[in-house]
Amino acid sequence: MNSVFRVFSYLKRYPLLASAQLFCASLMALSVIVFPSVTGFVIDEILPVASRHDELLKWVLLGLGGFFLKDFLNWGRIMVNNHFEQNVIFDVRSDLYRKIQNLPLRWFDSRRTGDIMTRVAEDVTSMERVLIDGIELGLVSFIQLLAVGAVMYYTNWEVALWATLPIPLLILGAWIYSKDARHRHRAQRDATSDLNSLLHDNIAGIRQIKSYAAEKDEHAHFNLLSERVRAASLRVMKWWAVYNPSMSFCQMLGYALVLYVGGQAVINEEMEIGKLAMFFLFLSLFYDPITNLRQLNQLYLSSRAAADRVFEILDSKEEYNPANGKRLPEAFPARIEIRDLTFTYGEDDDRPTLHEVNLTAEPGQTVALVGPTGAGKSTIVNLLPRFYSYDEGSIKVGGLELKDLDKSSLRENIGYVTQEAFLFNGTIRQNLLLAKRQASDEDLWTALNHACAEDFIRDLPKGLDTNVGERGVKLSGGEKQRLSIARALLKDPPILLLDEATASVDNETEHLIQQALDTLMENRTVFVIAHRLSTIKNANRIHVLDQGRVVEEGTHDELLAKNGLYTELSRKALLAH
Ligand code: ATP
Repeated sequence: MNSVFRVFSYLKRYPLLASAQLFCASLMALSVIVFPSVTGFVIDEILPVASRHDELLKWVLLGLGGFFLKDFLNWGRIMVNNHFEQNVIFDVRSDLYRKIQNLPLRWFDSRRTGDIMTRVAEDVTSMERVLIDGIELGLVSFIQLLAVGAVMYYTNWEVALWATLPIPLLILGAWIYSKDARHRHRAQRDATSDLNSLLHDNIAGIRQIKSYAAEKDEHAHFNLLSERVRAASLRVMKWWAVYNPSMSFCQMLGYALVLYVGGQAVINEEMEIGKLAMFFLFLSLFYDPITNLRQLNQLYLSSRAAADRVFEILDSKEEYNPANGKRLPEAFPARIEIRDLTFTYGEDDDRPTLHEVNLTAEPGQTVALVGPTGAGKSTIVNLLPRFYSYDEGSIKVGGLELKDLDKSSLRENIGYVTQEAFLFNGTIRQNLLLAKRQASDEDLWTALNHACAEDFIRDLPKGLDTNVGERGVKLSGGEKQRLSIARALLKDPPILLLDEATASVDNETEHLIQQALDTLMENRTVFVIAHRLSTIKNANRIHVLDQGRVVEEGTHDELLAKNGLYTELSRKALLAH
């Protein structure tokens, strides 16, 4: 279905506001006929008759009353319209945000953040313009055109017919203009989006740009994309520059025709001069809606391009979540069993990333995943919270197949501590409460204490209310890690996924982090992408991965005895620290 009409489907939710707006707009459009009718009447019936001159003021006041009514209704219409459209916009935005949160990671992998942001911020606003200006303009124009047209045809159908002559030309012009406009507008939006994506990337990577002294190159790159926006915008404007004046000329043709045909009718005494004056006053009211509709056409086309981009997101397939998915019981044996798991990221490359992987973690056990870079360790860890769906093989958590589980129930039971601790721009408290909304300050301090983060936070002047900055830039790497461990402790999940940080920190911090991790891992089933020898040695089972396959498994000593890949990795110190 046409995207713009889909926007209109949102309007159905507010029948009362829609009717109120329709009512005000209809009456308003009708009220415009009062003044020209009074003017015609005054010229023909009052001015030529001396005995009626004292009625002049009365008729002028009546004409003025018509204007007052029109503007009063306009006020009502704008008020209702504002509420109406803001409600609808709120709904579209909210749906869009909900949708984005429910899209699978696979979807994000192939999208650029800047592009998504442009769609949410700019395209929704642009789409909303078809509502703001479109409904107002379209409705009022249409009713006004009908009302004024009816009075004109009633007054003198022949002159009215000549006045209508430019309308088919205007419609033809609009059709020609609109034919390819969608592509022009789409190109403009896509170019803007590319520019925003680059900007987003470059701001996020500003440290790299500075350290590689790549400012000049990046500026040139930016200008290149900026030039594409310029060219695409100029193309839209070029068409508009031809379309707008030529349509305006067609409209003026109507004035000339009415002057000629109406003038003839007056000369031949077939029409009174007041009627001709009234016609001219009506003519602007008759063509106004057409000018408006022309602008509406431009608006509609650019909104349609924006709406297409918004609905592209709204139509994307959501993350898999089975209907009536099973929920994990309150307390369950957190046993994880992976059988014959083969997994492909797909899209550009359909070679499997994991081949027939088999591994089991008994409740409370720690399973370490080691292997060279790109072996598939993170992939296994990402499949457990079902960040990606798998097709072949099986993963069971607490005896239940992962695919049959309700997404939230599964994720509520899993903690995930990533290599690069991610903190949101907000206070320490807000970052911690993400894990447990109802946690008291006491709970927070206990978690921080266990994560060896209490002391440094107590030393901060604002304590828990300290703002950590974007991505937590105001904290050190070690501090961020301990905060993210505290967050996982607060969640207190039976299953923990841990991607050990490789970045080296000083000995004391290392010790604190290790202590925090040990506390975190206690009494949980843990999958750890291990880099530290100590973690690996303490694991109940080690699985060595190579090119997506489990090639060796056992304890540290057993694996060393095999003298295989594990031994080689140890020797090359790939198992750092
Ligand atoms: P490292 O130790 O370097 O983090 P890893 O063992 O964790 O490596 P994975 O991140 O699981 O390896 O990657 C395994 C393979 O899958 C790699 O070849 C990688 O290019 C590919 N891959 C990883 N993530 C994606 C993704 N989102 N989309 C497509 N391919 C991916």
